[in-house]
Amino acid sequence: MLVVQCHTLNHVVEYTTIQIIMVFYPNATRTLSPFYDKRPNEEEVSLLVIHNISLPPSEFGTSGIRDLFTGNLDPNAHPFYKEIAGLRVSAHCVIYRTGEIEQFVPFNERAWHAGVSVFQGRARCNDYAIGIELEGTDTLPFTDQQYASLQLVSDFIIKRYPRITLGRIVGHNDIAPGRKTDPGEAFDWARYRTGLRSTFLNR
Ligand SMILES: [Zn+2]
Repeated sequence: MLVVQCHTLNHVVEYTTIQIIMVFYPNATRTLSPFYDKRPNEEEVSLLVIHNISLPPSEFGTSGIRDLFTGNLDPNAHPFYKEIAGLRVSAHCVIYRTGEIEQFVPFNERAWHAGVSVFQGRARCNDYAIGIELEGTDTLPFTDQQYASLQLVSDFIIKRYPRITLGRIVGHNDIAPGRKTDPGEAFDWARYRTGLRSTFLNR
């Protein structure tokens, strides 16, 4: 609960409180992006979308992803950044090569990761999806630490949002075919789904 108003009348203090709900994964570092908004009609989360990203492309361990998602990307820092520095995009979480998780948007809010997208005939996936970015490329294997962290954060999300089923965990390429290829051929869906099965059994 957060006290948002307090005023004194005839020595009686009145408090008006509202509940601010921001759902974060507890083991992530938190860096709030300016690029998110409310889900329309308090849409319930029912889709999990896996992506990959690296900035500059194929370089890891830089501040590029954080800078992009916070609106701080310097267009002069790399030739590629000139093309993307003005983008207003975000994801809920980024999982770095080390397995570290950084959360940019609370899960209950709408992050801007899917773009033009459709899942089972329903457009505007951002309205009802959570987006997780793995630091990487389509073709280079992701790290064991990334799979471990992805499993943990997925467990948290799946337990919190019961409308997410195994069939509603997809790649960006699945909801934007022909436009997006991530998380790419290097992402081991069988490994990820095998880990998720016990999560669903125990939900
Ligand atoms: Zn993507």
